Amino acid sequence: MSVSQPAIENAQLKLLEKLCNACAVSGDEGEVRKIVLEEVKPFADEVKVDALGNVLVTRLGGGKNHPRVMLDAHMDEVGFILVSDEGDGLYRFETVGGIDARHLVGKPVLVGKDHLPGVIGSKPIHLASTDELKRKPSLDSLRIDLGPSGKAKPGEWATFATKFRRVGPSIMSKAIDDRIGVATLIELLKHAPSNIDLLAAFTVQEEVGLRGARVAGYAFEPNLAIAIDSTPAHDLPTYDGAENTVYNTKLGAGPAIYVYNRATIDDPRLVRFLQETAEAAGIPYQIRQPGGGGTDAGAIQRTRGGVPVVSVSVPHRYTHSPISISRVDDWKHTLQLLQVAVQSITSNLLLEKR
Ligand SMILES: [Zn+2]
Repeated sequence: MSVSQPAIENAQLKLLEKLCNACAVSGDEGEVRKIVLEEVKPFADEVKVDALGNVLVTRLGGGKNHPRVMLDAHMDEVGFILVSDEGDGLYRFETVGGIDARHLVGKPVLVGKDHLPGVIGSKPIHLASTDELKRKPSLDSLRIDLGPSGKAKPGEWATFATKFRRVGPSIMSKAIDDRIGVATLIELLKHAPSNIDLLAAFTVQEEVGLRGARVAGYAFEPNLAIAIDSTPAHDLPTYDGAENTVYNTKLGAGPAIYVYNRATIDDPRLVRFLQETAEAAGIPYQIRQPGGGGTDAGAIQRTRGGVPVVSVSVPHRYTHSPISISRVDDWKHTLQLLQVAVQSITSNLLLEKR
């Protein structure tokens, strides 16, 4: 096949770093959208920013009657929104998306368009009662402290302040979920094959209920869709020496193919197709353990008359916390699997038995 093959080298890691360090809480995806638009324009037949802020990119295969294949990655990340100004640089806040309050205490944050540095403070250990030390802090008891010179307004967004790092085989960032999907989708667009019409959706507001994907799926009207995301790996050893059997996914075991979660039952033909593609190409993969969670696929599959969907994720540890960890090799294998898969999609795929 004459398609140039994507790879993950320094340039791709630099782009991922830029995407991860951008601040783009659900509803405020502008910083990531700007980077995406710069990257995709030279490779697109059409680029649209829709009413919600999704970036919808079409790259036609050339010729007629190609399957319309939608690939999706969400631009937003979990974070915070300021609720009220209590004076002296102190702000009450709410979480945006699923964040466990245990992750918040003592963490540096960046607030607003100017990325003002702040901290989520807590009571010092010297003054906390035994009971307080045992309990999970309530959101009500926490404040973002910008200091007296830090001026912000209710309604402004904030993110964890962690900077992207590359450490040996690992990458660490606040926003691997889902900038790693965004970077993957950019690479796939740059090397799009001619056997499909590639419909790339860089979506908004996934973390607050798959909202952008719903309208993106409706607009694209695809024959099938693949959501590219990042999923928890709870693969640490247990402390009592028992076997860890509920890990969701494991780092280093390759892309995670979904079968079932709270938002989607993945199309069995697409699950089988991805597994067979990986096996034929010698690419490692794992099945994400069926259970909770969800991806944009859950919204896309329920647009119009229904869309066959599947999700593929790069695993990461420490989901929706100030810092997650992934392996570069898992990212490489995810990109490889998706590239080989999109190159092999034909309209016959959906004529197969379920
Ligand atoms: Zn995600």
